[in-house]
Amino acid sequence: MSVFTHLDYDDHEKVVFHRDATTGLQAIIAIHNTNLGCALGGCRMWPYASEDEAIADVLRLSRGMTYKAAITGLNLGGGKAVIIGDPHREKTSDLLRAMGRLVNSLQGEYVTAEDVGIGEEDVATMATETSFVTGFTRQGGMGGDPSPYTAYGVFRGIEQAARFQLGWDTLSGMRVTIQGVGKVGYELARLLSEAGVRVYAADIFSDNLKRAVADLGVIPVAPEDILRQPAEVFSPCAMGAVLNEQSIRELGAPIVAGSANNQLATEEDGLRLASSGVLYVPDYVINSGGLIEVYYQYFGADRQEVLRHIDRVAAETLPEIFRLATLEHAATSVIADQLARERFMPRSLAHTDAA
Ligand code: NAD
Repeated sequence: MSVFTHLDYDDHEKVVFHRDATTGLQAIIAIHNTNLGCALGGCRMWPYASEDEAIADVLRLSRGMTYKAAITGLNLGGGKAVIIGDPHREKTSDLLRAMGRLVNSLQGEYVTAEDVGIGEEDVATMATETSFVTGFTRQGGMGGDPSPYTAYGVFRGIEQAARFQLGWDTLSGMRVTIQGVGKVGYELARLLSEAGVRVYAADIFSDNLKRAVADLGVIPVAPEDILRQPAEVFSPCAMGAVLNEQSIRELGAPIVAGSANNQLATEEDGLRLASSGVLYVPDYVINSGGLIEVYYQYFGADRQEVLRHIDRVAAETLPEIFRLATLEHAATSVIADQLARERFMPRSLAHTDAA
């Protein structure tokens, strides 16, 4: 596969491919745009079926980070890393240290953190080789996994979406379906359950589903049925591209609001959701809590500021996107992209970008 002409290349500044023969590490780091600051984005480990799949994933993920940082008002660029491999079988501390050395070789152009398949302890292992890491507990107890902040932001976003789309001022009595109860999905299920929401969940990793059922009393649903399950909100908290022409027809909820990155299979799917009357809460806006948290961890600030920032995104940015989408008869995904580009793109380029 060619990279420069790739559909998702979108003027990436840098893409680094690395294979470490000793540890078996195969990794790609993509840096999309650093107009606003260094590129910060998590590292994902996943058993990609092909290198092409890994390239497409890292390009889409890193681009999303640029948009996320821009729309949430952070002075950060967008980047992301992927490790090709099964985190349950192939993740070793040697491999993670090799990844840390790769991150270090970029000398701060890219700062890494956790993502799917990479947890806080893995990030801490990478940190033995590089200081360009965030999202793990430092000496003195500072820092840590940002997933609870991501979940908190999604929870706040669901409140706003329910108010806008359904006129509900309380979540109590609402039904939410969660696809994936991993780091974020589990924490979201906890917050929702505490707010009196009836939570339905599916996970392909049965241990994670069992834990959510046992700890939180969520109602288990088969992975292939979760999208169709009738509810007020469908919350994708697993992998991307779950919203496509077919799945949108089958959706059981009038709101999509979840943490997964790149939920739309294609940009047209954002338009499809809008014309089906579904309120799509743009993924990179609603899931920005974790980025906000690791930003403040890395550059330093107190926890109250983190929560205030996440609350601002939910209470100001999301309603503004919903309002403009209604006013301009546009998809929420299109409006979010426009607002983000206005911040990270030089004015002269903002309207010619086809992204
Ligand atoms: P995770 O690996 O901890 O959890 C993902 C869960 O989804 C796992 O339990 C996995 O088994 C499950 N899953 C995978 N495919 C599935 C499917 N088809 N159906 C049902 N379950 C499935 O990852 P996470 O950190 O919770 O992240 C979840 C999503 O949110 C990812 O897309 C990630 O990029 C995004 N995200 C995470 C954060 C964060 O702070 N962790 C921040 C922003 C965005």
